Amino acid sequence: MKRSTRLIHNRAGTGPRRTVNPPLEHASTIILPDAASLYSQNPAYGRMGLSVHQELEAALCTLEKADFTRLTPSGLSACAVAAAALVKAGDRILVSDSIYGPSRRFCERRLKRMGVESERFDPRNLGQIEMLMSEGAAAIFLESPGSLTFEISDTPAIVTLARAHNVKTIMDNTWSAGVFCQPLDLGVDVSVQALTKYVVGHADAFGGAVMTSDPGIVREIRDLTEDWGISIGPDDAYSALRGTRTLETRLSQHQASALQLANWLSGVPGVNQVIHPALPSHPDHALWLRDFSGSSGLFGFLLDASNQSELDAFLGALELFKLGFSWGGFESLIIPCDAQLTRLKSDWTSEKNGHLLRVHAGLEDPDDLIADFQLGFDALSRKKNT
Ligand SMILES: *Cc1c(COP(=O)(O)O)cnc(C)c1O
Repeated sequence: MKRSTRLIHNRAGTGPRRTVNPPLEHASTIILPDAASLYSQNPAYGRMGLSVHQELEAALCTLEKADFTRLTPSGLSACAVAAAALVKAGDRILVSDSIYGPSRRFCERRLKRMGVESERFDPRNLGQIEMLMSEGAAAIFLESPGSLTFEISDTPAIVTLARAHNVKTIMDNTWSAGVFCQPLDLGVDVSVQALTKYVVGHADAFGGAVMTSDPGIVREIRDLTEDWGISIGPDDAYSALRGTRTLETRLSQHQASALQLANWLSGVPGVNQVIHPALPSHPDHALWLRDFSGSSGLFGFLLDASNQSELDAFLGALELFKLGFSWGGFESLIIPCDAQLTRLKSDWTSEKNGHLLRVHAGLEDPDDLIADFQLGFDALSRKKNT
């Protein structure tokens, strides 16, 4: 069966009544069948997961072609678990200049206090990556496309270097939702996702997942999440599981709408550059074509605004595009990104011309979204002419 079918029919169908969806158990205590079970190595306890967690983990294993999935309470905690599971005091972790800011901060602030050094790298500079690996590193943390700036890494080449230098690889796969990219197929050791984004899909719950097929890493992630007491409540797991049923269908509309918007924006005088890996104008378009089977609803563009008040005029005129963090839900969002960029190894500013905006194309009719953008561009040109 194809993946979309398996994501719908992955129910065990157990329990007193056969329901389409799993029963939603709310439980800390699980009543054990007999006294002997009290002394078994892994006595059942709610924190280790209930039926809904097991079904969600199975769905995510299907999606990411992984043997093992561990759920976490947020996307950020998934990133933190993946990084922390692969390092110990005295190690070094290589961190992409373009990964999600809070993941970078976890490595640079939290792991540092645990005796782990972090070193940044430019996700497009294989020579630099090889040099850093040859100096010694336990793990490398990638995100492709990069958060906010959408660089596509040459992941298979980085994996080859990593294996040669005994470095474990982590990739944040939230952008593709596991629908358009399977990092483990590209040789990556650990894939992570913020389920909060596309898997939940309705901007109403948090969740994260860490996926791997490496038995040694499975052990590390199990131990670490047990030691830290990491678990996710059944309601949030349920929201994520429900999202898996419609994930591919939603993603194909997010993809189509984002492409329509990106193509339209490419022809607008108020836009200096559209940054979308599926456009041939993107510098890493060939890598995207090779490693991804599609694109999601998130992309960027450089607005031709020469100061803050022009930027504010554009944003203030939008009605459908809401201003807000996160993405992946049914609603369209836009945020200015300049303040969130911190680059140490790659020079983003030199190629930059205008204000960087990140767009999430929601599930509204794309014609209405284009009309909304037009309101913004009209307000921008009025501002420029005053
Ligand atoms: C949002 C996001 C996260 C964090 O997810 P939360 O659920 O908000 O903690 C991690 N990585 C990427 C790429 C994200 O976009």
